[in-house]
Amino acid sequence: MQKVLITGAAGFLGSHLCDRFIKEGFFVIGMDNLITGDLKNIEHLFKLKNFEFYHHDITKFVYVPGKLDYILHFASPASPIDYLKIPIQTLKVGSLGTHNLLGLAKEKKARILIASTSEVYGDPLVHPQNEDYYGNVNTIGPRGVYDEAKRFQESITMAYHTYHGLETRIARIFNTYGPRMRLNDGRVVPAFIGQALRGEDLTIFGDGLQTRSFCYVDDQVEGIYRLLFSDYVYPVNIGNPDEITIKEFAEEIIRLTGTDQKVVYQPLPVNDPLQRQPDITRAKEILGWEPKVNRLKGMKATLDYFKGFSAEELQKNEHRGFTKN
Ligand code: UDP
Repeated sequence: MQKVLITGAAGFLGSHLCDRFIKEGFFVIGMDNLITGDLKNIEHLFKLKNFEFYHHDITKFVYVPGKLDYILHFASPASPIDYLKIPIQTLKVGSLGTHNLLGLAKEKKARILIASTSEVYGDPLVHPQNEDYYGNVNTIGPRGVYDEAKRFQESITMAYHTYHGLETRIARIFNTYGPRMRLNDGRVVPAFIGQALRGEDLTIFGDGLQTRSFCYVDDQVEGIYRLLFSDYVYPVNIGNPDEITIKEFAEEIIRLTGTDQKVVYQPLPVNDPLQRQPDITRAKEILGWEPKVNRLKGMKATLDYFKGFSAEELQKNEHRGFTKN
């Protein structure tokens, strides 16, 4: 049985990846320090013989006994609110944590895929963003701790590939959504859905004319899976090019939830990218991949997940906007 280590296993993407690799017949070791992850996301896996969980912080030496075939590195805070709350951990997991995992991959002769991000493009001056664009990042801005950690992560990963011949893969992940997102992580999808379900107004930051392109989690997982088993070592954008303004998106959520909420405007967070859309030509060519789930279908599935929360849980995980957190 092939063995895969997934870091950030209790997080949103990590937990879906655990499910996928279990389904494909792998032995999965999930690792997480549970700072932003939640064991609820993977508790259904604990009864399985081919799943193990290590409660561990990967910025410390990582030990896994026996053989290891693959590593998927998905441990990191991944929302602007988290970067503000835990900036040092965000920097450490992308740098020291990645270094430890590359060392482990080298020791085990395992192939490693790292989760990079569209944030390496910063507030992009090229649109849509293709993989050859170097980006426009403010190193010392609030997002710098994430963006620069991820940029360093890509550099050290390529260095291990060229210097040590390690088998490496780099996924540049664009905004992804679906069940198991944290209700209060401040990201726009759970923020708007949570606000609509609590009967609150939806908080639009800035004028709402900034754009994002949202990819459903099943599509994202499929893209990552294909990239791992491809032989391509350079970064590949994985995301859905269907771009929308945040204002239009708020209106969509209001229609979808059938609530009668209004929108309220709050200041735009510092360095919030004005536009974002992945150019996925490379993923199409190399992986034969493109997203299949449209926003309406994906948002309905996500809404169904959040409808499963009790009124008390919805209240407890309230998000009232960036500036008040
Ligand atoms: N956003 C918003 N209201 C919210 C949360 C987010 O208008 O309650 C905006 C945010 O300013 C950004 C976009 O939605 O322009 C996407 O934010 P998110 O945090 O989901 O992701 P990122 O900025 O990292 O793409």
